[in-house]
Parts: sequence; C-alpha cells; structure tokens
Amino acid sequence: MSHPIVRFAPSPTGAIHVGNARTALLNYLFAKKHHGEFILRFDDTDAERSKEEYALAIEVDLAWLGVVPDLILRQSRRVALYDAAAAKLRAANRLYPCYETAEELERRRRLQLARGRPPVYDRAALALTPQDRAKLEAEGRRPHWRFLLERRTVRWSDLIRGDSHIEAASLSDPVLIRADGAYLYTLPSTVDDLDRRVTHVIRGEDHVANTAVQIELFEALAGEGAAPVFGHHNLLSSASGEGLSKRGGAGKVGALRDAGIESLAVAAAAVQIGSSVALHPAFSLKQLVGEFDLATLSRSQTRFDPDELATLSARTLHGLDFESVRDRLAVHDVVGAKAEPFWLAVRGNLETFLDVVDWRRVVEGEIEPAPQPGEEAFLQEAAQALPEEPFDERTWGEWTGQVRARTGRRGRALFHPLRVALTGRDTGPELAALLPLIGRLKASARLRGRAA
Ligand code: GLU
Repeated sequence: MSHPIVRFAPSPTGAIHVGNARTALLNYLFAKKHHGEFILRFDDTDAERSKEEYALAIEVDLAWLGVVPDLILRQSRRVALYDAAAAKLRAANRLYPCYETAEELERRRRLQLARGRPPVYDRAALALTPQDRAKLEAEGRRPHWRFLLERRTVRWSDLIRGDSHIEAASLSDPVLIRADGAYLYTLPSTVDDLDRRVTHVIRGEDHVANTAVQIELFEALAGEGAAPVFGHHNLLSSASGEGLSKRGGAGKVGALRDAGIESLAVAAAAVQIGSSVALHPAFSLKQLVGEFDLATLSRSQTRFDPDELATLSARTLHGLDFESVRDRLAVHDVVGAKAEPFWLAVRGNLETFLDVVDWRRVVEGEIEPAPQPGEEAFLQEAAQALPEEPFDERTWGEWTGQVRARTGRRGRALFHPLRVALTGRDTGPELAALLPLIGRLKASARLRGRAA
C-alpha cells in the first residue's frame, strides 16, 4: 500500500473516551504501519456545541497517547470549500430546498410508520414550484437543503467488514445544510476527505449508513471511484453494556490518565480489545505498529472493562525499560547512577507509576520504624552482621547467610522481620536489589528500630 492518508475526525463537543481513542489509534497505527499520513480534523461546524476547550483537550489526550498528527484541520475555517461543493451539487440538481418544519416531518414519519411503511422522507419538496417556494419564503420560512440520493444499491468493500452494501432507497435524502445555513457533518466530511486526498476512512460502525450517503456524495462531487476505502470497526460498550458517550464519564481518556493508567496500556487496549489478540502489554507504540492488523478486529460489540485496563497498565509498568521512563523518574527526583537500579528494583511492584514516590522514600527518604515486638534482639544481631560497604546485589545473600549462621533462623522467620525493618512494609521488591540502594547507614539504623 503506498502512503495512505487517514484522518481522525472528532467533533469537539466533549472529551474523548477510550472508544474514540480506539478510532484514533486504529487510524494512527494504520498510517504508521504503511508510512502514511494522519490528519486530526475537528468536525466543528456545529458552532453551538463545539468548544475550543474540548478541541484542546482532545489534542492533549492524543498527545498523551503518543498520537502526533501530521496536520490539524478545523472545519469551521473551511466553509468556502463547502459552499463551492454545495453550489456544484445545486447545479447538478442534487441539492434541493425543503421547507418542512420538524413537527411536520415528525407527523409524516408517524403516519408512514402507522401505515407500515419505512419512515423515509417523501421528497414532497421536489414538487414545489418556484411560486410555492416564493410564498413559503414570504411567510418567513428558510429552506434546509437535502441531497437527492440515487436510489440504488451502494456497494463497497469494507476493510474490516468485507463486502458491504446498503439500499439507498431505504434512506431519507439527507439534510446537508440546515435552515440557518450551517452545514451538518455529512457534506464537510466528504469535501475534506476529497480535498485532503484521504485514502482510508476508518471509523466506528455507527457510521455505516452514512457511508452509503457519502459514497454517493463523493461520486456526485468527483466522479465514480472517487470514494476512499472504508473500514468500520466494532464499538465498545461500558461494563454495564451501554455505549460509551462523550457526555458520560465512563472511560474518558483524561480520567484514565488521572487514575494513573499508563498511556501505552490505553493504546494497547485500544487495539487489542475487541480483537482476536489477547490483551498484552506494549512497551512502545512502535511495537503496536508492528503488531497492528485490522483483520484481527471482531465484528461484535465489546465491553470495555476498567479493571482489565488497570491490570494491563501494571503489567506494562513491570516491563518498561529504564530508558522509556528516565524523564518521568527525573520529575520525581530519581536521577543519577542509582536511578536505573532503582527502577529495575521497583518496577515489578508498581500498580501505577506514582508508586515510585513511595519506594523512593523507602530507599532514600525516612521511614518510621514498624514495631516488631519480640524481634528486637534478632534485628540487633542482624545489624551487627551487616557487612561494610560497598554494597552490591550479592550483599543481601552474604549478609542473610551470616545472620542465619548466627541465629539459626531460616525461611520466612529469617527474611520477613528483615524486610519489615528495612522497608516498613510486608511485601515489596527483591531485597537483594533494594539493600544496596538503602545503604548501610539507613539499614543499620532501621534494624535498630530508629527512624531513618
Ligand atoms: N465527526 C464524526 C464523529 O465524530 C466523524 C465520523 C467520521 O470519521 O467520518 O463521529
């Protein structure tokens, strides 16, 4: 495939959730895999509901996920293109004015349903004479504009769903321009896809019906074969089975970030949930690019399970190498020669990255002694057996060997009190790795029951 051009086209009417992130990632990884281009397009023709702050938040969320657009477009600044396209459609008699009010349309719809007919717009407006229209306009009515569909079977070969078709006769002629002159999503999307030479439209399967309309639009504007390739992916639902929404709170990317979920876990989950690939951690987006394959996506709706994501996030942390977290550690003042051994020692015990703050305190800060009644003498003995520095990863084994020889203790009776004294906790990273980081001075004080 030569250099595909794809786009992710959210309307900035809310913050994105993991389902939207999934669409973004599927497009982005597809572009990367085939050395193509990824466009972020804000579908913001709805001036009332679109907000700059949402657009910004979407950019931030995508940046956090590692999705870097090659180009950012805003439909609100491209209206001249849509005007030109509308003029072209009018000239070809494919765009016609309608004057029905919402109530009139609703009444007709109900009547059709009552008669057992599909509620498809009856094209009554096509029969209006210029005089009828003049009269309606004189009454103060402003037209909205519908695209005249060719009532044919629209076929496409869907990248994900395979051969697909829709009977356009089962669809109403879609409104492209509202009575107040605003463009609805359908026409601008098609015009932009043409203008930016988008080759592949990868989006949720809630857009399948739009695809028939848009293929007709592509052809009306630019001739047969002008439509890009379409791929419609399955949708995610929340744990309770509802769809994820921009308004509801479930699965918001920002909320996942605030909860300490790793961005790479979100990215991995985004492409693995709802596919035949088992959920597994990714340690770079590059890895996900390598593994990416649209053919693995399943056709049915899939649940998004926040607990599963949290587990994946922890597993991701457990395998991240030092280079990929060096800067994030520096933010918490974990720097210098000890930074890498510290990371390798603690990563396996992290649930979220911020847990490093806790472990940093254990190795570099001060901890309160955890009382261990009855163990004082044993710990005193252990303190006396501490070897001189320098400590390395063999020190723990040598030291506890000495302590065993002196006290006759072994197993948990030997190791557990030492762990609690040295770290203040019951569980944690390998002490062989921690002890050199804690150092002799602190170790000795803590074994003697002093805060250090
Ligand atoms: N703005 C549309 C949406 O958010 C874009 C759909 C498309 O990709 O064409 O659903």
